[in-house]
Amino acid sequence: MNQIFDIVVIGAGPAGNSAAFHLAKSGYSVAVIDKRHEIGDKLCTGIIGNNCVELFHPEPSHIYKKVKSATVVTPTGTAHSITKPDIQGYIVNRAAYVSSIGKKAQDIGATYLLGKTVTSIYSNSSLASVEFKTDEIRELLSCKVIIIATGFNSNIPRMVGLPVMNNRGYMIGAQAEASLTEPTDTEVYLGSKVSPGSFGWLVPLDNSNCLVGIASRSKLNGHMKTFLDNLKQSGKINTSDVKVKKWGIPIKPLSKTYTNRVLVIGDAAGFTKPTTGGGIYYGILSGQISANAVKNAFTSNNFSESIMRNYEMEWKNRLGKELKVGYYARSLFEKLSDSQIDKLVTNLASQDNPTSKILLNNFSFDWHSNAINHALNQFDVLTLFKSFGSNVKPLLRQFTKQKQTSSK
Ligand SMILES: Cc1cc2nc3c(=O)[nH]c(=O)nc-3n(C[C@H](O)[C@H](O)[C@H](O)COP(=O)(O)OP(=O)(O)OC[C@H]3O[C@@H](n4cnc5c(N)ncnc54)[C@H](O)[C@@H]3O)c2cc1C
Repeated sequence: MNQIFDIVVIGAGPAGNSAAFHLAKSGYSVAVIDKRHEIGDKLCTGIIGNNCVELFHPEPSHIYKKVKSATVVTPTGTAHSITKPDIQGYIVNRAAYVSSIGKKAQDIGATYLLGKTVTSIYSNSSLASVEFKTDEIRELLSCKVIIIATGFNSNIPRMVGLPVMNNRGYMIGAQAEASLTEPTDTEVYLGSKVSPGSFGWLVPLDNSNCLVGIASRSKLNGHMKTFLDNLKQSGKINTSDVKVKKWGIPIKPLSKTYTNRVLVIGDAAGFTKPTTGGGIYYGILSGQISANAVKNAFTSNNFSESIMRNYEMEWKNRLGKELKVGYYARSLFEKLSDSQIDKLVTNLASQDNPTSKILLNNFSFDWHSNAINHALNQFDVLTLFKSFGSNVKPLLRQFTKQKQTSSK
């Protein structure tokens, strides 16, 4: 078979489904290929914010919980509850949510080819093609444009000469489902015993089940087991035999995300919030941005690099600042010792501190740079960071420098 489609999307995660939906809606013939049989069934906690919900609303049955608050537990074990009056996040059944976006794309004409692994792609100035296999049967699709939405650490971009992920540009996420001893808030755990330079989480799905996980740039070295054991000992969870799964989370974008007839989106392009590793929203957004760029290429009937580059210009315009500021903030956080984290969180969470109000007002679940910039503009926060001495000063200087260049 050598069918011809306008666009072939590789990967039916949030990013690929979003691109397919927007392109099929505009009347293009779209094929989506995924090696999974079940769409969306990938390791993830499934927390999304209001902006994501505005783009693709989860069905009520896919929402486990609506979240207005979270508890941050510092390395010394002090718990600070942070609450906003409005809903900030939704804990959703991730597989059902992502699959529902794919269903929307199929309902308006996108063709889904599931259980098929793409083995090679090809593109030049006049054509593009995708080869995939089911068991040992190989098939080929020709198309005008390929959108690569294959997720973390994919080798597919390399097949058309695009760069691969930076080797410092990712975290490892480990997660397990456990049972709760009693209903609880969403909890975030900080400190070197939980996850050096990063964090751990306990996210309730309902009153009796939760997801427990850690994300880290360092090797996990038994941290997940210790975290689970500690939660069990403290009486939070009572599961003894949990199945831990691991997968990567990119935190830096690829240095190039386009070539002749090809765009890279979502995790494959490195689009997550570098602070938390949340990537569903940026994946969906990059799917929409790529669809707009592809539509413009069809309008001008020009799929050359110089036209496909508009996609990269647009994602940089929308996401560039978030990815840069978030990455700096993460790098800064990674330098802090446990006692410094304690001081910082205690300072920011204090009700009497006017800075905490400013920060809370500027906090957005999906866009972190505003709150980070506001925090580092506050005299008390800056003074605190400076008091942390030589381990943070060089980064603080870099941060201020990049802020000055990006505001020019
Ligand atoms: C432990 C953990 C927890 C997380 N929690 C959250 C969270 O709470 N909120 C949040 O926003 N983000 C979270 N993330 C990140 C989020 O899951 C990703 O950012 C998001 O799934 C990226 O979407 P995507 O469409 O780019 O890629 P993916 O969802 O990874 O989809 C890629 C698809 O491509 C397919 N594919 C890959 N290679 C091929 C091939 N050769 N041929 C055919 N198909 C292929 C895969 O089967 C897959 O379906 C978490 C990640 C981890 C690891």
